[in-house]
This record gives sequence, structure tokens and C-alpha cells, in this order.
Amino acid sequence: MMKHFIPVASPDIGKLEEKYVLQALRSTWVSSIGEFVSRFEHEFASFCEVKYGVSVSNGTNALFLTLRALGVGPGDEIIVPALTFVAVPAVVLQLGANPVIVDIDPVYWCIDPKAIERAITKKTKAIIVVHVYGHPSDMDPILELARAYQLKVIEDCAEAHGARYKDHRVGSIGDAGCFSFYGNKIITTGEGGMVVSRDSDLLSRIRFLKDHAMDPNRRYYHSEVGYNSRMTNIQAALGCAQLDRISELIENRAKILEWYREYLADIDAISLNPNMSWAEPVNWMVCAVLNSCLVPKRGQILSSLREKGVDSRPFFVLCQDMPPYNGCRTVGVDELDTPVARRISLAGFNLPSSASLKKRDIEKISNLFKEGYLKIK
Ligand SMILES: *Cc1c(COP(=O)(O)O)cnc(C)c1O
Repeated sequence: MMKHFIPVASPDIGKLEEKYVLQALRSTWVSSIGEFVSRFEHEFASFCEVKYGVSVSNGTNALFLTLRALGVGPGDEIIVPALTFVAVPAVVLQLGANPVIVDIDPVYWCIDPKAIERAITKKTKAIIVVHVYGHPSDMDPILELARAYQLKVIEDCAEAHGARYKDHRVGSIGDAGCFSFYGNKIITTGEGGMVVSRDSDLLSRIRFLKDHAMDPNRRYYHSEVGYNSRMTNIQAALGCAQLDRISELIENRAKILEWYREYLADIDAISLNPNMSWAEPVNWMVCAVLNSCLVPKRGQILSSLREKGVDSRPFFVLCQDMPPYNGCRTVGVDELDTPVARRISLAGFNLPSSASLKKRDIEKISNLFKEGYLKIK
């Protein structure tokens, strides 16, 4: 039996979280009405430097309801990056629209603005950018294209709470920013999500749809088919406590990445998280990308780490390589495939990144990694 198993990500839950959650429980407001829900919406929107936020039941529903509120439906095309969590193309298909899968930048791994224009057709409605692994996408050229072609830009910030692009917080740049508060994200509510936006009409529409499409002025009158995607007061209480501590949590994660950089500095065959000059990323997950000659050994390297009680995870599988998305159109900078995303997806993996890890944990993980790596390479 392994005594100490170090997971890739576990939440950092402390006394403040206990206090707020207990307060929510004792208030008996356990469903989606209660003071913590609106407090969390206000405070999180203000953290993102936008006026408004609407809480939802998870990050996937944040994306789904945003597209739905923007009127996305059958026949529409939505541009998405090739390296992302599956929720992104999934919500597009759920609405009867078609994801168009676009290649990523080789250095910072987000959607490549140079490939986007080639993917645009008369049917294109929106671009979903994903600030993948905590590094912002290059928003300026994307916004320029969106203006030229009248497209909406949705930021998937599920992995990037608090990151900045130039002077702006992610989520405040496009038409809407969608966040997840799943247990492994920068802050958690257990399950949960939020849409932030400058556009109060868009958010009112999402608020309406997420609550059974009930007429705000006439109770139990529903002019459309709605959804139940509400966040509970208990979840929001957890969120408020996490949000009170978010600077500390982000700083701890930044330190963790610096420690890995220090302890893994002598391994030339891997490179760690990128950081473009125009970006202030957050370290959602420590990312390592293997040199091409080591790519076939990724599985072996990661299993040897696992045998020593250290968890890790490979990068996301390319969307188009999974059955529901096989038929999706793919677009790279100069070909109809996504070669950059394909290479990075096979070469990358994540190391334990929980905010609560200490320097000695990182030293130990790095040493165990090196042991296995030196044997296998
Ligand atoms: C986690 C994640 C989501 C989905 O969030 P859930 O809260 O799990 O539904 C969406 N997009 C990206 C990029 C994610 O990492």
C-alpha cells in the first residue's frame, strides 16, 4: 500500500471555508436562494474587473448557456481550439452547431490567431478561446478578427482565474467569460461555474435560462423551454471563502511552479509552462513538455512516477481524435490538420500542482521524477 499518494490536484480547504459553509447550512438556505449566491456573483465579477456575473451549476453549463443566450443553434459554426477539455466542443454539438477545430500556438498552446481566419465561413458565429493551463490566449488579433467578421468571442477561463492579458483580467476581454469551480480548479465550489460580462442583457438572458426560463415578472409563467443550472447557497459559501483567499492560492501555485523550475532545471529534455511577455498567467497546473525523442516514452515515465506514489496526467486528447468529434473540420496555419496541437498533446503532461504543496514536496516529486526519467530516457 502506498502511504503517501500525491494527487495531481486537490483543493485547499481551510477554516474559513468551514465557517462560511456552516453559516449557509445553519441559515437553512441550502438551495439556490441565499445571501452567499449574490455575494459570490458580485465579488467574483469584481475580482474579474467586470460589472456583472451570473453563477451556474458548472463550467460546462456556463459555456452552454452563453452560446444558447447568444442564439447559437443548428447550422452555426463555432471556432474552438484543438487542445482543450472536451466540454468546449461538447456544448457546441449539444446545441446542434458545428465545432471547427483550430490549431494552437507552439509556444503558449492557446488557439493560434493566424489559423483562425482560415477557419471563418459565412456560418461562423463565435470563437471560443481557452486560456489553457492558466496561460491567456492572444486576444488582440482575435478581437480584431471578431470585429471584422462580426463574431462573438467567448473566453473559457475555467483554468485561468486571475490571469491577465496585457492589463486585463481574463474573462473581461471578450463578450463573455466562462469559469468553472470544479474541485481541481484555481478556486472551487465543489461543482460550480460563472459567466461574467459587461453585457447586462446577455447575463439577464442567461439568468432567465438557467432558472427554468421563468418570467421575472410573472411567477410560474415560462415563455420558453429553460434549464436548471443554478448554483446552491452552500456552494456559493464555499466560493466566497475561496475567493477571500484567492491571492494566497494563486501565489502558492506560482511558488510551486518556481520550485519545479529550480529542481528540474538540469533536465534539458523537458520544458515547463510558457510565459509570454504580454501575459500574466496563473499556474493552474504545472505543465511539462517532452522533447520529441522522448515522446514515445511518456507513458513509461508517468507510470514509473505513479509506482512511486506520485500522480500525473497526460495533456488533453485532441478533440478530433474522439468519436463524437471525428467528423469536425480542422484548420491549421497552412494545412487542414492541427499538427502543433497534435505534437503538444502527445508530449505534454501535468505534475502535482495543488496550492497546499510545500517546497519539500516539490523537491521529493522532482527527485522521484528524475530517478524514473534517467532510467527510462
Ligand atoms: C474544467 C473545464 C471546463 C468545465 O468545467 P466543469 O465545471 O467541470 O463543467 C470547461 N473548459 C475547460 C477548459 C476546463 O478546464
